[in-house]
Parts: sequence; C-alpha cells; structure tokens
Amino acid sequence: MFDFLVVGAGFAGSVLAERLARDAGLRVLIVDRRPHIGGNAYDTYDDAGILIHQYGPHIFHTNAEKVFKYLSQFTAWRPYEHRVRAQVDGQLLPIPINLDTVNMLYGTNFTSFDLPDFFASVAEPRSETRTSEDVVVGAVGRDLYEKFFRGYTRKQWGLDPSELDAAVTARVPTRTNRDDRYFTDTYQAMPLHGYTRLFERMLAHPNIKIMLNTDYREIVDTIPFREMIYTGPVDEFFDCRFGKLPYRSLHFVVETHDTPQFQPYPVINFPNDHAYTRVTEFKYLSGQSHSRTSIVYEYPQAEGDPYYPIPTPENGALYAQYKELADATPGVHFVGRLATYKYYNMDQVVAQALATYERLTRRPEVEVVDAQIVRETVPASALGGNGQHSQ
Ligand code: FAD
Ligand code: UDP
Repeated sequence: MFDFLVVGAGFAGSVLAERLARDAGLRVLIVDRRPHIGGNAYDTYDDAGILIHQYGPHIFHTNAEKVFKYLSQFTAWRPYEHRVRAQVDGQLLPIPINLDTVNMLYGTNFTSFDLPDFFASVAEPRSETRTSEDVVVGAVGRDLYEKFFRGYTRKQWGLDPSELDAAVTARVPTRTNRDDRYFTDTYQAMPLHGYTRLFERMLAHPNIKIMLNTDYREIVDTIPFREMIYTGPVDEFFDCRFGKLPYRSLHFVVETHDTPQFQPYPVINFPNDHAYTRVTEFKYLSGQSHSRTSIVYEYPQAEGDPYYPIPTPENGALYAQYKELADATPGVHFVGRLATYKYYNMDQVVAQALATYERLTRRPEVEVVDAQIVRETVPASALGGNGQHSQ
C-alpha cells in the first residue's frame, strides 16, 4: 500500500514526492504517462550530443530564496542571465522594451531621463487595465504595441491581446534604462548538469517508486494508495464534464547546424515574421562547448500536449467550476500549472508544491511528530472503498 499516488513527474509532482518520502517518511508511487521524469522541464542530449530542452527553452529565475535553497539540494548551478532580441523592422532590438530599443527603432537620442516623457506622449491611458492590450498600449502606445506585442501574441495564443487577461503581457516589463536582461530576479541560474539530472536526484529515495509510460488511469484501480497528488490537466481528471478547458500547445522543430554559433543572442523573437514565435539556441543556456549547435523553433498550435493555460475571462470562469469540484474531491490534491490552470513559472510551481506539502502535513487529522507523519487518520470512506482510492 502506497501512502500517496503522485500523478505527473514534473516539478509539482516531483517536489511533493520528494517531500512526502524524504521529509515525512511516506511511501510514494509517482507515475507519468511520458517515458521520462521532469515534465515540461525535461532536457536530454540530442543525436549531436548537445543538451536540448525537449519542450522548449526553460530558464530558471526566482526571487524566492526558499525555492532556490530547496532546489540547491539537488543541483549545483551555472549563473546565467537571459537576454532576448526581437526582430523588428529589420533590426534585432532588445525586448523587454528599453532605452536602446526606442533609440535604435526611431533613430532618437533619448536618455533615461527623457524616456518617461516619451512614453507618456505616445501612451494611450486606459481607465482600467483589464486586457493584455491595455497593459502595453497604456504604457508605451500603439506603435510599439503593434511592432512588438500584437503579432507575437496573436501567434502565440491564437487570440488578440484584447481578448487575453492583462497578466499575460504584464509578464514583460517596460524599462527606461539600458538593462537588457529578460528577468531581474535575485536568483538567475541554470542547473549545472541540466534539469533531468536535478529530477533524478530529487526522486532518488528508497520510498519513491517511479512508473513511466503509464497513465494513472491504467493503475488507479489496481494499486492501492491512500491519497493522490494530481498534476495533470484538471478538466481531464473530471472527464471534461463542464466542457474542455483550453490549453495552448506548441510544435517544436529542433535543428542542428554545423557551426559553433547560429545566432547572436540566446533567443530571437519574431513578432511579425514567420509562423514560429521564437528561435532558441541551447548552448547559450547550458554553456556547453561543442563544434556544432542546436536550435529550436516554436510553432504555436491549438491541439497537442497541453503547455499553457489560456488566461481569458471565459476560461477563468470555466476553471472556477472545475476548481469547485476539485476542492470537493476528498483525498485528491490538485497542484501545478495544468491542475490549477495557472500560467506559472517553474519557481512558482515549486513554491505551490512546497506550500501544499506544508498544508498537508499540518492538517489536524494528520498526527505529525518531528515533521514525520506517524499516523494518518483520514477516514477510509473519504478515500474510496477498501482504503483504496477509486474515482
Ligand atoms: P508539467 O511539467 O506539465 O508536468 C505534468 C506531468 O503530468 C507531465 O509530465 C504529464 O506527462 C503528466 N501527466 C498528465 N496527465 C497524466 C496522466 N493522466 N497520467 C500520468 N501522467 C500524467 N518556466 C520557467 O520558470 N522558465 C521558463 O523559461 C519556462 N519556459 C517554458 C517554456 C515552455 C515552452 C513551456 C511550455 C513552459 C515553460 N515554463 C517555464 C513553465 C514550466 O514548464 C512549468 O512551470 C513547469 O514545468 C510546470 O510543472 P508541472 O509539474 O506543474 O507540470
Ligand atoms: N510577448 C510579446 N512579444 C514578445 C515577448 C512576449 O507579445 O516579444 C507577449 C506574448 O503574449 C507572450 C507573453 O508576452 O505570450 C509572455 O511572454 P513570455 O516570454 O513570458 O512567454 P513564455 O516564455 O511563457 O512563453
């Protein structure tokens, strides 16, 4: 009998499996329908021997010391500050938009002191910032919005920015200085030996059994367990009973080139040209030395593996229905980007998983001594027949 069945071996599932096994001494079975651990953060060496991220570029950054310290138990780090350029009007310009972006685009000579006045002169103030269009047009005006955001967003999401929640484009700030880093977080680093190695070390515990190539529905009725952590798409768990919750997918095209360097920056965004949104050259991220180089093109699509929740008011309302059902499902805990329908970065998922663990081990019905759960008193009836969960 396992104490926990963890569905999904991405950050949400792996952090919880690790905490439940190593900190609480519980027996955990973690299953994933993919042939590997790591979820969307999985990385692997391609045929040329270059470390690539199979599900798109993953750059680690966080302001949460707790998250960084927690992950540091399982990996050493390589300091890495990410930089991105957008191809606009035939130039490669810094994104997030900064002082150099404006000067290079318009041939101006503004200083950091002038730029707020420039932005104020072109911005279209909005009475409320409700949509992703409001965020950008309200800050930098229509021309910069159309050159850098409208096309990229339509491609990425299949929606106009005016249909998306403000939080989507608000991920990308506007700067009046020359800082061209994509992120400004306190901790910015890549796992020295890659994400997969980090996950291997996280899950290497005698209390954790790993089952790959397995949809949990194949084993849920035959392998007994007490409680479940579920990190897959929340609508799927409930057989889409309120309708399908939209997730955006991507098609990745990886190419290896016979040159040590393919492009001048780690990522180039293409807001207005091509069907793909961006091109990433992995060696910048990993620091790997190699005579060849591998890159990935990202083509957004509606169908395929679920990668992004799509933040719109309608989808938020549909998710709220699923959340109500999830909250009322005893013995199952929904965690992670797909299960809580949140556009979370890796560090936010780790923080959510750690908070879930703390909540689980502080429950009044669980007796905890020295951070070890010594007796579970969740009534068997809450977990389904024979103390075994069934749906
Ligand atoms: P996932 O990693 O999706 O893991 C869920 C797992 O559950 C999957 O492995 C899936 O196979 C499994 N599963 C689902 N259903 C079942 C089932 N029925 N049975 C068995 N297994 C199941 N974050 C950053 O911080 N920085 C970045 O640069 C960054 N870049 C990104 C780029 C792309 C293209 C994408 C898509 C995401 C990016 N992210 C980034 C976000 C990051 O991937 C997520 O925050 C994180 O991986 C989510 O972890 P998770 O465990 O919630 O979900
Ligand atoms: N975005 C854009 N142009 C850019 C970069 C980002 O329009 O050059 C918008 C787009 O809607 C994107 C969102 O900002 O989906 C968030 O960008 P981020 O780079 O955080 O996306 P992710 O890395 O999560 O795909």
